[in-house]
Amino acid sequence: MSMFADIPVGVGEVYSGERIRWQDTHVEFGGLRVPYKFELVKVRGISEVEDGKVTVIGPDIKDLEPQKSYPLGIFIEVAGSQLEEELEGVIERRIHEYTNYIEGMMHLNQRYDIWIRLSKRSFEKGLNSFHMVGKIYSRLFKMELPIIERIQITFITDPEKVKEMYDYALKEYEKRDARARGLKDEEVDAFYGCTLCQSFAPTHVCVITPQRYSNCGAISWFDARASARIDPKGPVFRIEKGECLDPVKGEYSGVNEVVKMKSGGEIGRVWLYSAFGHPHTSCGCFEAVAFYIPEVDGFGIVHRGFAENTPIGLPFSKLADSTAGGRQVDGFHGISIEYMRSPKFLQADGGWERVVWVPSAILERVKDFIPKHLIDKVATEKDAKNVEELKNFLAARGHPIVKRWEEKAKVEAVARPAEEKVAPPAAPEVTAEVVAPVGISAAVGGFRIILKNAKIKAERVKIIRAKEK
Ligand code: SF4
Repeated sequence: MSMFADIPVGVGEVYSGERIRWQDTHVEFGGLRVPYKFELVKVRGISEVEDGKVTVIGPDIKDLEPQKSYPLGIFIEVAGSQLEEELEGVIERRIHEYTNYIEGMMHLNQRYDIWIRLSKRSFEKGLNSFHMVGKIYSRLFKMELPIIERIQITFITDPEKVKEMYDYALKEYEKRDARARGLKDEEVDAFYGCTLCQSFAPTHVCVITPQRYSNCGAISWFDARASARIDPKGPVFRIEKGECLDPVKGEYSGVNEVVKMKSGGEIGRVWLYSAFGHPHTSCGCFEAVAFYIPEVDGFGIVHRGFAENTPIGLPFSKLADSTAGGRQVDGFHGISIEYMRSPKFLQADGGWERVVWVPSAILERVKDFIPKHLIDKVATEKDAKNVEELKNFLAARGHPIVKRWEEKAKVEAVARPAEEKVAPPAAPEVTAEVVAPVGISAAVGGFRIILKNAKIKAERVKIIRAKEK
């Protein structure tokens, strides 16, 4: 008999990756519409945890009005003779995995940013209480991580209590992040990888180094090391660094080999510290997106909680769509907030000297970690709402990016006279034909054409079906 026979919906890996659209949602917890939400794991002494206890503070699922969004806190306390505080982050990240194992439940993001939906279908099947969700968590956690001897779970939906605990949770996350600061990539033999998000982004592999926190911002190098030790067959694994092929871009032979294998051959090279060329892949759980703005030759960064448009006229959600899915997209880069505090943050692209726009809430969180002379030179939503305003702000404040513009202008000015000597021929009328390589079929994904910053004008475009030979 299944260990979930008393649960009215299916539970298992097979349900991971299920997307629940708003019209199919019974209730939603967290997400953009709700300011206070969190999930937190704390390690306690053995006598402080009542094994299997599930508590709901505030209305339970069945008491909530359908088709609305609610605050939620998930607070899990665990105990075990071998459990250490160091493991809290990785145990907490498993909430994502195990919630997604539940038929009709979708969990996205992490920590203070969780977003959970329960489908109408599963609610109608009888999944109408957090007591059931707690039972599922208890059994999965203890089965998959036997190091957990006792577990008790509290779900909080009372808005006042969620807010109160939210502040406590933020302090706990900061304590964890601070513990992991200071260690350098060069001081360790191995990095760690995580493929937990492959259920949503099958080719995504997080590479976690001392100076590059995971994209979700929930797993540091220390957390990953602890996770790989207690659960060697789990989603977090050791990566031998191998040879350092480029210390500035952050390319390692060991990373390339492992990422290639874990991405099913899709991703062959990774530059850990660049958003161009072979950037680290982005799943969908990243806390923020760094996006290249060609008009100013710099990066904007926007986080998930920012509801307005960025200066390029797009909100986080649209930029996230262009970035996510386990791909390497030139100039679009999923990152964690903690990585913005790293001395290696986008180091191959110029680091903070290349960052031109950041929401004020994020600037406030990282300002102690960015070079002092840049703090008032990086624009926020208060300074620039579009690219024109951004350009003016950067020029007025003397942002280092202005030097890049000047250098580029000089190079163009030198190149121009030479070009003028030989008048370019008038652009000929071109008939272009794109032929798919023989043998490629839609079954293997066809082919992709990506045009960036391209302006295409055509009188007429004809697409002609190729004749069978
Ligand atoms: S974002 Fe990366 S580290 Fe975080 S859970 Fe997903 S794969 Fe793992």
